[in-house]
Amino acid sequence: MTDRQAHETNCPCGSGDSLGQCCGRYHAGTAAPSAELLMRSRYSAYVLGLIDYLQATTLPAQQAALDLDGMRHWSLESTWLGLEVGESTVLGGKPEHALVSFTARWHDQSGEHVHQERSAFVQNDGHWYFIDPTVPLKAGRNDPCPCGSGQKFKKCCAAYV
Ligand SMILES: [Zn+2]
Ligand SMILES: [Zn+2]
Repeated sequence: MTDRQAHETNCPCGSGDSLGQCCGRYHAGTAAPSAELLMRSRYSAYVLGLIDYLQATTLPAQQAALDLDGMRHWSLESTWLGLEVGESTVLGGKPEHALVSFTARWHDQSGEHVHQERSAFVQNDGHWYFIDPTVPLKAGRNDPCPCGSGQKFKKCCAAYV
């Protein structure tokens, strides 16, 4: 997509802004400044089939275990119907964690689907990452958390996976 097209296309995340002024900036390499904006840009990436972006914005310790073919299939075989973002809570700590509630709707061969989730995110080195609840983190309960917080895993991201 050219810059001009991106500025004439409504952003799939439903913000009301153009793609180029909304999630397109993050797809192009600018770090999303909040967990909510990262979550919106990940929804838009599913709509647009940007699987590399979805992988790059998942917690680095989980990236190698993602089912990229499954994600690509889900992205391309679905008609995406919209996103609603609910409450967004920054939990603080170092690095910061955040929880974002959202509802996503899509349509595929088996009908219409509604998915509600409260997703967890962590910020490291100025980048927010999605903590994928379907990918196990390989850490003992007393080991340092794979998110890089330096806390024990059981006191950190073990609650999210
Ligand atoms: Zn957007
Ligand atoms: Zn953690």
